Amino acid sequence: MKIELACDDGAFAVNYIQSLVLLFKPCEKFGEGENDSRLVFVVKREGESFFGRALLETDGKVCEKSMSCPISFYEASKNPAKCFAGKLFLSLFSEVFGYKPPWGMLTGVRPARFALDYLLSGYSAEKTKQIFVEMYHTDPEKADLAIRVALCEMKVLKQERERQFSLYVGIPFCPSRCRYCSFVSYATPKLLSLLPEYLEMLKFEVQMLCETAKEAGLDLKSVYVGGGTPSVLSSEQMANFVPAIRSFIGDKNVEFTYESGRPDTVTKDKLSILADCGVNRLSINTQTTNDTILQSVGRCHTFEDYKKAFFLAKNMDFAINTDLIAGLPGESVESFCKSIDDVLFISPDNITVHSFSLKKSSEYTVCGQTFDNSDRSIDKMLSYSSASMKENGYFPYYMYRQKNTDGNFENVGYTNSENSIACYNIYMMEGFHSVLAAGAGASTKLVSRNLSTTGKIYNPKYPYEYLRAKDDILKNKEQILLFYKEKYEK
Ligand code: SF4
Repeated sequence: MKIELACDDGAFAVNYIQSLVLLFKPCEKFGEGENDSRLVFVVKREGESFFGRALLETDGKVCEKSMSCPISFYEASKNPAKCFAGKLFLSLFSEVFGYKPPWGMLTGVRPARFALDYLLSGYSAEKTKQIFVEMYHTDPEKADLAIRVALCEMKVLKQERERQFSLYVGIPFCPSRCRYCSFVSYATPKLLSLLPEYLEMLKFEVQMLCETAKEAGLDLKSVYVGGGTPSVLSSEQMANFVPAIRSFIGDKNVEFTYESGRPDTVTKDKLSILADCGVNRLSINTQTTNDTILQSVGRCHTFEDYKKAFFLAKNMDFAINTDLIAGLPGESVESFCKSIDDVLFISPDNITVHSFSLKKSSEYTVCGQTFDNSDRSIDKMLSYSSASMKENGYFPYYMYRQKNTDGNFENVGYTNSENSIACYNIYMMEGFHSVLAAGAGASTKLVSRNLSTTGKIYNPKYPYEYLRAKDDILKNKEQILLFYKEKYEK
């Protein structure tokens, strides 16, 4: 699509309009000659009002909208012109495509943080909902969801103290590749053979980060070993690696999660090692309980395998999260609702319901898989999911959105009690404190007292690059110490 934008004061850039277009046309490409679609978009201030005109030429049709609105209507918005532009855009595109995005003009990944900012600025929950619905055009139930999550996050935020941090340890290796995955994760035997060398380097980095945190006077809140599939390690590798990590972080009792996403990698021996090292949470995922779909998405386990792994871990007192994905290719509404029922019957402490998304380098995307945002199937799946969660005593505690998600929906983490909340998810998503991260593709986020992320340090993306980057990784220490010196000691 070719976009011709004219906007007073540069209040927003063309990439904002592009992100709105993607809500309606998920795979749209932009630029001259990409296709025959053309969008002319004009927003001006005239006295105390905004005036806007938008014209869309697509598929041989031409549609045009004009509107004006008093600037004062957007006084609760940080960027009134952008908000007005969103309204104009939605009114045009909703008419042309016969579809209204559930989150309205909100394109960001953290709608709960958006609600939290309003609540922390003194707006009531009712007023925040009104702003979501009237100004950002979100569905009322989505506004409720964002506010419920934000209220839950506020309780976690109240427990925050100065100079807390979490530690992320990344192991990007998997037993096979899921067709919807775009993470860098090594899954072939040749690449998996790098694992021993990788674990040595990872130990080195974790030790360095723990020493750096001590030097900066930081207090550890949570540890998350993610991936990939960290449970892909053999028992022998685990028996060497996890106690080493434990020795670096010390014996403080913290939330300690070890992702064990693939049930086929979970064994009693491995779970015993994790329990002995103080790991208290696992994520054991099935994504769907339909075996045919499990096979077709490239996961080498069945629902029965998931149940075995789940009960093995449950009997050892781990808190467990289970991920599901709504809208996997081939999954019907009935089949997904059965997955929800099956998993609720087993009753993990947390259930995270993702909406299927077409990630850039996933096999599905490369093979040209698409979805139709006006198809309401995923809407029905998520409505069933949220109603069933509520009925079974679960409530939403964290959420985020991703690009190119079926129906522009969200991913929601549910918990069956406040004591079971996986706080790391909230710390990481909402940036309540710094997350020091080790491993290939990991990024350290440094957070200031005012909750803004003011520093990011990226590690090399691929394991083979990471293995050669010892000197660069040592430099991360200086950057972290400098950040704390500058932000906290002035
Ligand atoms: S288990 Fe997770 S990281 Fe591994 S291939 Fe599947 S989605 Fe990707």
